[in-house]
Amino acid sequence: MFDKIFVCLDMAGCPNRCRHCWLGCTPNGRLHADDLRAVAAAFRPYARQLEVASWYREPDYLPEYRALWDLENELSDRRTVTHWELLSVWRAVRDEAYIPWLKTLGIRSAQLTLFGGEQMTDDYTGRPGAYAEILATMDRLLKNAIALRIQVFVNKENLTDLEVVADLIQSHRLEERCAAIGMPFAAFVHQGSCDGENAKRVAIRPTPEDLAQIPPLLVEHTLRHFGQTSLEAVFGQTEQTLFSELEADGTTASLVSEQPVFFVDKDFKVYPNRSAPAPYWCLGDLREDGADKILNRYQNGASPAQQARKDVPLGAMVRACGDPSSRRLFSKDDYIDYILNTYCEVTAL
Ligand code: SF4
Repeated sequence: MFDKIFVCLDMAGCPNRCRHCWLGCTPNGRLHADDLRAVAAAFRPYARQLEVASWYREPDYLPEYRALWDLENELSDRRTVTHWELLSVWRAVRDEAYIPWLKTLGIRSAQLTLFGGEQMTDDYTGRPGAYAEILATMDRLLKNAIALRIQVFVNKENLTDLEVVADLIQSHRLEERCAAIGMPFAAFVHQGSCDGENAKRVAIRPTPEDLAQIPPLLVEHTLRHFGQTSLEAVFGQTEQTLFSELEADGTTASLVSEQPVFFVDKDFKVYPNRSAPAPYWCLGDLREDGADKILNRYQNGASPAQQARKDVPLGAMVRACGDPSSRRLFSKDDYIDYILNTYCEVTAL
């Protein structure tokens, strides 16, 4: 019995194919309310507290999003489940009632993701017109007194486009317009974790000299957002430094939590939400194996990735998969996950 289980079912996928997507881009499915009921019923006997979500890619992507929100609440033990501060830009520009509905949930601030200007954002979001839709969504959010938080993913390919984001903040008076609704405007840049689609772009991950190219306005907002005093603290250390710190590390780790979060994909394969739902994280097929077997595998660290982290000393994986001369920047936790994923891939676990 777990203290709490949070289970998220990928009922519809996502309209985007973001090049940084830490979940990895996989085909969309089309599941139904009864599938969510079945997933909740499967995990219910094993959790003192259960929380259920109908998505883990694009929120509110299905036309019946309101009914699904009600169903999430009905199937969850919390009186009101979390909507986070995420929204569907795709829906925001196609459904007049959507943002006013978000407002009724008590959302005061929402996050939007840019990669630079129009071309760069469309390319990186994987959908023509994405940038124009994000801009239109900003206006609709502000009209409904919901403040903006802009996230910008950075790598060597879009560094020079960051000035366009700083210009947008100023030319659209985003700070002033948020202040007018009594909420702070927020923005931040970061490189993202190095899994899913973003792991394919490891070669263009930022290095220390790139940080000087981040426009001052974005630096100021980033430091405020993360409560840090330097960009180095936000972007982490070079791989070179992390490699020498960890190459002799003999520790192993159990990747098991008393309050796990599980992703269930459109084919009912179950993954812990530690990293991208890759085959080496898979705990089994919910319909074939049942929750009991899957939770046993989870608790015993039996997915290939959990097993590797439990059995193989960290330093051995770092020596096998790290690059001692690389100056690419990582947080330590992201680097360990990147090394573990790479180890699973190269050893074909
Ligand atoms: S990052 Fe989010 S919006 Fe982009 S493809 Fe992944 S799930 Fe979809």
